[in-house]
Amino acid sequence: MIESTDFTVKFWGVRGSIPVPAPYTVRYGGNTSCVQVQIGERLIILDAGSGIYHLGQDLLQRGTAIRGEIFITHCHWDHIQGFPFFYPGFESGNHFTVYGQKNGDFTLFDQLTGQMTFPYFPIKLQDMGARLDFQELMAGASLDLGDGILVGTMANNHPDGGLSYRIQHAGKSCCYITDHEHRPHLDSAVIEFIQNSDLVIFDTSFTESEYRGDGGAPSRDGWGHSTWQEAVRLVMEADAKRLVLFHHAINRTDDGLAEIEWLAQQRFSDCWAAREGMVITL
Ligand SMILES: [Zn+2]
Ligand SMILES: [Zn+2]
Repeated sequence: MIESTDFTVKFWGVRGSIPVPAPYTVRYGGNTSCVQVQIGERLIILDAGSGIYHLGQDLLQRGTAIRGEIFITHCHWDHIQGFPFFYPGFESGNHFTVYGQKNGDFTLFDQLTGQMTFPYFPIKLQDMGARLDFQELMAGASLDLGDGILVGTMANNHPDGGLSYRIQHAGKSCCYITDHEHRPHLDSAVIEFIQNSDLVIFDTSFTESEYRGDGGAPSRDGWGHSTWQEAVRLVMEADAKRLVLFHHAINRTDDGLAEIEWLAQQRFSDCWAAREGMVITL
């Protein structure tokens, strides 16, 4: 049983784009974005990529009614595609509040129901069974979840937009910044957002070489993702304590990730490439 003051972060999906279960992803994992933040009894879920299926199976083993808050960065498929397979969402007695952004004319509810309509999925979100509440957030909003848990938000630089989240409790904080492209200069808004944070989970889809498009490859400028080198610069500038490289590219092999992790650690020692099953206690 977790002590009431424990603040732990567990990774259930660490990739972008699509799940890539393959021989080359066995060590770091192939599921798309999903992170569990557990603060005492309070369950917070960041994104509902395919990793949320496995989190759901784990939660069901508790054998009690499940209550939690689900924060969606944005509704690109790799961040919501696991939601229709989140089995706790199908059980009456469970209660989840889903947070995220309105996008154009699409409410958060519209965006999540959209992937569960005929002919794409046989069960409507409205028929899932658990109580599901939806709350829209604007970039810059901050939220009090009670029990001393505060959540801050920041706008991402990403096609179709997105939100970053900073979760704070009892002097500890975890920032989740994914699907965010860095600016040509060191971004003061990001530095302020992650200032002195205990843990920063950051979109490091690309290397700088890939981002530039070295060797005749296409430049990734404008694709909406960042690099591990920029993540290291940002956490150092912001005096953040720990960095987790996240949203791994689908073609990134375990060996490739291990190399990036090692290179990043040479510049910032408390840095780790996210892997499924990894638990960090703040
Ligand atoms: Zn993504
Ligand atoms: Zn995206």
